[in-house]
Amino acid sequence: MCDRCGRPFVSPVALQSIQPLCRLCRANFFSFERARSFAVHNDALSQAITLLKYEEITLLGNWFAGRLAGLISTEPEKWGIDVVMPVPLHRERERERGYNQSYLIARPLAKALALPLEAKILIRTRSRPSTLLLSRTDRWRAVRGAYALREGQQVDNLRILLVDDVMTTGATLDSCARTLKQAGAAVVLGLTVARVVPEWTSLRRALRGRVGASVRNGGKKRNKQGPFGFFRKISVAGKANRARNGQPVEKRPSASAYDWAGWSYARP
Ligand SMILES: [Zn+2]
Repeated sequence: MCDRCGRPFVSPVALQSIQPLCRLCRANFFSFERARSFAVHNDALSQAITLLKYEEITLLGNWFAGRLAGLISTEPEKWGIDVVMPVPLHRERERERGYNQSYLIARPLAKALALPLEAKILIRTRSRPSTLLLSRTDRWRAVRGAYALREGQQVDNLRILLVDDVMTTGATLDSCARTLKQAGAAVVLGLTVARVVPEWTSLRRALRGRVGASVRNGGKKRNKQGPFGFFRKISVAGKANRARNGQPVEKRPSASAYDWAGWSYARP
């Protein structure tokens, strides 16, 4: 997985480098320093999170917090933290629901780590669209500039751990982290219970044999058409980059790579 954002890798070559980073992190795309999740989002976990979200199962929050604390304890040197902060809900959403599910995880986690919980500093100033089915690009749009510091609060030089239930594109964590960084936070780390693995990752994994074949046949004769042209393009480009000295070469992700994975997001 990516050493920074925790995104699972498909390319075994990427894992061979000393600090494996995904192409987004190599381009310094995210505002947070590090993000990890307890598990990949699956049906069972999704049901548990739904319970937490809509039924306020505090015990479930405690259990998740225990798992996240365990995750930190495996590499404590990478998790220097001063305060724990739940990703906030918009106040209307919280009033509607009666609580914030991220708070239900963050509170016991702060307790387990013996750190202060700061649930009142960060606020969500703009509500997310009511539809549950947002495209990846919509997710970025929905959270851009959606968070702010409550008036009179400050986070100068703080090392902050953001806690949320699910990480999908990283847009929410990124938006919160950016707000906190702009306000002077020293480090922003993120932990979520579940991680949604982008479909293209599993799709690409499933197609690996096929993609490899097209590269081997490739070079001059590769087919630019067809539904998998994108995969070929990435594979071929990756191969060319790695060819130099046999080491991965730092390269900014192309605009098309962002677009394809839904990362197209014009930074303000
Ligand atoms: Zn990454």
